[in-house]
Amino acid sequence: MNSPDQPILRDIVLVGGGHSHVGVLKSFGMKPVPGVRLTLICTDMHTPYSGMLPGYVAGHYEYDEVHIDLSRLAVFAGARLYRDEVIGLDRVNQKVICRNRPPVPYDHLSINIGSTPQLAQVPGASENAVAVKPIQRFNDRWLALLARVKQHPGQLTIVVVGAGAGGVELLLAMQFRLRNELRQLGRSPDDLTFHLFTDAPVILPTHNEGVRKRFVSALATRGVVVHVNAGVTEVFARSLRTASGETLAADEIIWVTSAGGAPWLRDTGLALDAGGFIRVTDTLQTLTDPNIFAAGDIASMINFKLEKAGVFAVRQGPPLTENLRRSVEGVALQVYHPQTSWLALISTGDRYAVASRGWLGFAGKLVWQWKDWIDRRFMSKFQDLQPMAETVQSPPSAPSVKLNAEESLQAISAIAMRCGGCGAKVGATVLSRALGNLHPVDRDDVVIGLKDPDDAAVVRVPPGKAMVHSVDFFRSFIDDPYIFGKVAANHALGDIWAMGAEAQSATAIATVPSGLESKVEDVLYQMMTGALEVLNEANCALVGGHTGEGKELALGFAVNGLIDDDPDKILRKGGMRPGDVLILTKPIGTGTLFAAHARLAAKGRWIDAALQSMIVSNRLGARCLFKHGATACTDLTGFGLLGHLVEMTRPSGVDAQLNLSALPLLEGAEECVAAGIVSSLQGANVRLRRALRNQEAMVNHPRYPLIFDPQTAGGLLASIPADRVEACVAELRALGYVHTAIIGTISAQTDALEPITLAD
Ligand SMILES: Cc1cc2nc3c(=O)[nH]c(=O)nc-3n(C[C@H](O)[C@H](O)[C@H](O)COP(=O)(O)OP(=O)(O)OC[C@H]3O[C@@H](n4cnc5c(N)ncnc54)[C@H](O)[C@@H]3O)c2cc1C
Repeated sequence: MNSPDQPILRDIVLVGGGHSHVGVLKSFGMKPVPGVRLTLICTDMHTPYSGMLPGYVAGHYEYDEVHIDLSRLAVFAGARLYRDEVIGLDRVNQKVICRNRPPVPYDHLSINIGSTPQLAQVPGASENAVAVKPIQRFNDRWLALLARVKQHPGQLTIVVVGAGAGGVELLLAMQFRLRNELRQLGRSPDDLTFHLFTDAPVILPTHNEGVRKRFVSALATRGVVVHVNAGVTEVFARSLRTASGETLAADEIIWVTSAGGAPWLRDTGLALDAGGFIRVTDTLQTLTDPNIFAAGDIASMINFKLEKAGVFAVRQGPPLTENLRRSVEGVALQVYHPQTSWLALISTGDRYAVASRGWLGFAGKLVWQWKDWIDRRFMSKFQDLQPMAETVQSPPSAPSVKLNAEESLQAISAIAMRCGGCGAKVGATVLSRALGNLHPVDRDDVVIGLKDPDDAAVVRVPPGKAMVHSVDFFRSFIDDPYIFGKVAANHALGDIWAMGAEAQSATAIATVPSGLESKVEDVLYQMMTGALEVLNEANCALVGGHTGEGKELALGFAVNGLIDDDPDKILRKGGMRPGDVLILTKPIGTGTLFAAHARLAAKGRWIDAALQSMIVSNRLGARCLFKHGATACTDLTGFGLLGHLVEMTRPSGVDAQLNLSALPLLEGAEECVAAGIVSSLQGANVRLRRALRNQEAMVNHPRYPLIFDPQTAGGLLASIPADRVEACVAELRALGYVHTAIIGTISAQTDALEPITLAD
């Protein structure tokens, strides 16, 4: 979690993790601007590097070799990463509209979202062709295509529509790979026939004659049928038709023709060109709004006609970075003039490439090796990242951000508050603005709540019900207040569900780092929106709270639940019986994964999956366990699996066997502990190893450290009568707890002092 001493004064929001923005992030990571916060909003955690995509398709590279891990890069840059899809802009209020979260405010905005396929223009193309753009969906589509081709028996005709560098290179890479795959399956590679269609009179129209000849020859040698002057006008389920009426039966049709701008841009009021791309000046500022920049495929430079290629997006990274820096400093921007001729290294799939620049062209295996070296060197800039703490950093410098008089006053006061580590209340105006738009659920049993605030909230306990109380509080472990709010609320509710109760009401306690009022207000709003979505979904009324300023963002809840006033209806920790079976409803590993995340040692997709798991509510799971006769239940939190299990076996007077190989694990957890990375709470949890009967025998098991791993918003650990366990597990999985596993058994207590035995 990034918690700089300098309060946040300006927000630069980067929309899309394209080739230009990765450069911006890297540069700001190396040389941050005090008081400036970067937020990257991106639909994906891993962004493909276009130069290596054909090599990946051909089978020369693995997925992680050709993808930039935006999550690690964001941690390196001290930037917030919001995984979401941007669907609009509110330019009047300077906010980015996202599909799944509250609007994100910006002071300066940059858009680098690539291009969008224009299949709708050709009847049948959307339904029957595979578009290779947008690039972020490319991998899914390629893997699906690979699987389809492998499963398809007999002859196959594959068509690529579009004969620019992308289409030609992709066709040759696919052909190389698919022929190899068929060979390995014992099938004839000649079962595959490839066709290339273009509406132009030649292939590679933007390259010189010599380069074109080399590719014409390569395509002919490899048996590819090339159709020039053959624009595809209609696509059917298994065929296509061209403008001249020619038809061709085809099993797969891949669409690599020119793409356009994302449709949502049309409603932003930004000036767009005929293709829907954002018109930008030589400073990469949009024509319409100097606070908004655009780069890469989505930008259309008004003074230069550029190809839509990753190489330009990469090159626009440094001038974009410079101009974003200058914008916050309020100084004149730099003019950027792209090169008019550039070097393209186009591969033929078989570790052979053609170099093309202006009138120049040469080819060979050495050219491919050269390209490989250039591409790997580029990627290493984003892969070999050192954690910020280990990088040599210059001492904090005075903010160079240009502020108005009111902002300067607020900044001085925020710095004073931070130095004092102050726990002062957040100002009433900020609080009422941030919380004013939140709408907690209405409940009849809330007598006095947030709608009619008083010194304290008053809730009714209906007749026949007892009240269940619980409290949880922790600091943010991610740079995303909205998701953190969700996780914190879900974590706090966990105790209520684990008791078999229904949530009724909650009071919140939060600390927010001080700063400009607008920034404090937004963080609070984002965090409480996330939390309230979870509370409302649980029909739990937020009835009050307290917010202070502190060094770190933190949130907790005191939650009240209601339960039938009948001891038999309460799910306790102490009811386990010999013969019961142990169930865990969510995978474990959050402690080690987030420790690794802070050290740049976790993959973005691991963190993403862990967060998804953390926001899954235990509500339905607890009901299901109760229905199937659970004898004991608890939710996994900071004490880790072993700690919680011991909390159950002790009062139950039983022993337990835990099967390590059966434990459901979050992806990456095993890798992280194997790398020796554990949570700071692990040390305290490991003391409980004295509860293990065969600790010495199992200490070297790769999963052993994970039984001590502290969990945030973990799953439910429960004991179930053996004859009901199968039905219970099936129902839990159907309810969405897909990782639910039987992880051990309960037996009668023996004379041994240690209640838990580990099994492999
Ligand atoms: C198969 C293939 C091979 C190619 N080979 C080459 C090559 O060898 N050399 C070359 O120079 N070019 C190549 N290209 C072209 C190249 O991929 C593009 O020109 C390049 O990716 C454009 O880069 P960009 O930074 O503009 O955007 P992109 O690389 O497309 O990145 C866009 C980013 O924005 C995100 N995003 C998109 N929409 C949203 C949204 N609404 N909200 C939030 N995030 C969003 C995406 O997730 C992605 O991270 C190839 C293209 C394809 C399809």
